[in-house]
Amino acid sequence: MISGGSYEQNLRSDRGHENNPYYSTTDTTKLRVSDAQWKKILPEDLYAVAREQNTERPFTGKYWNSDTRGRYYCAACGNALFKSDAKFASSCGWPSFYEALRKNSVTYKEDNSLGMHRIEVLCGRCDAHLGHIFNDGPPPTYKRFCMNSISLDFEPENAFTAK
Ligand code: FE
Repeated sequence: MISGGSYEQNLRSDRGHENNPYYSTTDTTKLRVSDAQWKKILPEDLYAVAREQNTERPFTGKYWNSDTRGRYYCAACGNALFKSDAKFASSCGWPSFYEALRKNSVTYKEDNSLGMHRIEVLCGRCDAHLGHIFNDGPPPTYKRFCMNSISLDFEPENAFTAK
């Protein structure tokens, strides 16, 4: 892996997003990118979740059981989504948070698929499917953002405080 270049470029390559021109942790401009375009950019398993609303199997993702301090970003576009401070141990098998990093980090959409009424959570910048939100979380919000690990990139706290 080539080092040097900007912090942003390094982040992109560290996370395997060298070929994703939309990936940025600092640009919050809303993206309008077609599914056809995303299909050329995203790995197949991420595309299936981010653009086709698939769900990874519980207890299989990278982050469901992680309590490392740091920050979580959208794996499709780099948008900052959650702080580890808001992550809690949930028995559901997916990484769970009680609040988003910022109010506009995520957006919400009604989801009546699979015979259930749920609220879908999408990335506020690229509209990637992240997971769903439920009302059985801990205080102070009592919300549970139930996320797919594959939709998230994690940056440990010491990585970004050192910059
Ligand atoms: Fe995104």
